[in-house]
Amino acid sequence: MKIHTDNRRQFGSDNYAGICPEAFAALAEANRGHAVGYGNDPWTEKAARLIRDVFETECEVFFVFNGTAANSLSLASLCAPYHSILCHEYAHVETAECGGPEFFSGGSKVQLVPGAAGKIDPAAIEKVVKKRLDLHYPKPRALSLTQATEAGTLYSLAELRTLIDAARQFDLRVHMDGARFANAVAALGVKPAEITWRAGVDVLSFGSTKNGLAVGEAVVFFNRELAREFDYRCKQAGQLASKMRFVTAPWVGILQDGAWLRHAARANAMAQRLEKSLRGLPEIKLAFPCQTNSVFVEMPKPVIEALWQRGWKFYTHVSPGQCRLMCSWDTMEEEVDQFAADVKNLV
Ligand SMILES: *Cc1c(COP(=O)(O)O)cnc(C)c1O
Repeated sequence: MKIHTDNRRQFGSDNYAGICPEAFAALAEANRGHAVGYGNDPWTEKAARLIRDVFETECEVFFVFNGTAANSLSLASLCAPYHSILCHEYAHVETAECGGPEFFSGGSKVQLVPGAAGKIDPAAIEKVVKKRLDLHYPKPRALSLTQATEAGTLYSLAELRTLIDAARQFDLRVHMDGARFANAVAALGVKPAEITWRAGVDVLSFGSTKNGLAVGEAVVFFNRELAREFDYRCKQAGQLASKMRFVTAPWVGILQDGAWLRHAARANAMAQRLEKSLRGLPEIKLAFPCQTNSVFVEMPKPVIEALWQRGWKFYTHVSPGQCRLMCSWDTMEEEVDQFAADVKNLV
């Protein structure tokens, strides 16, 4: 039996894309001969060092298999079971992790905070925290924010500071879900340190699966105190890779020459191109500002169905009534233009 992948690059998810050449080359390199298991190998050491270089600080770095594990386990290390975690109502932590943060923390309640365009409204933090202050309700302990957000939007440095100030006022620790952190850094043109530890982030789930790796996300503790015994937490959760070098070598591949930012910038640019060609078309309504690698649009149902019929893949379940068009590190101009031409043709 011959199995084919789709030759046409799709807009379904950035995890539809393959492995980028830099990651693939490093993987092949790591496959030459033997290395010590469970992360005590030179690739893992180098990947962690490169991450410390990226953030310009001596952070603690761990590698897990996916983003759900990175988020759940890092949040668990911020909270006791009687604590609660505040996050946006559309946050992956709430909508797409099957209760992982609650489970791995041993019962921490997730409390939802509203806000436009996928971004937490800082004023709403106080409201949620002060909703109940008695012993009979979980005590808020962590704020989880997503950068770039699930709506593809960004917190500017100023917005981030305001949000984190609001959290600190109530003694909340700060977690950042950075499944698309690279896209945020590329779009904002800031140093990674500026939008993380210098702004008060305690721990970051640093994703790269959506930016050209096959598997593996990093958990980066800027507050090193909170990393105590995190290795045990990972092991117990089934997140310690025995052949760790195959998770970490690709990180070396994308970090050592800046490929991670080039790929993210390309994905962002393709979304910009797509947004530009859809903007102004009749019956097409752009839902959020296009700031990273996704375009959210409202389209009539017959148009959506006709696009699916023409073989295009994209999601309609991420936010109600909207189509999410996601660009990847390898999305080409031709695909963007072809998709836009099909939409134009149908409206
Ligand atoms: C994709 C994604 C994750 C990670 O999801 P996994 O499928 O568990 O790897 C986390 N947060 C956000 C915002 C995501 O989009």
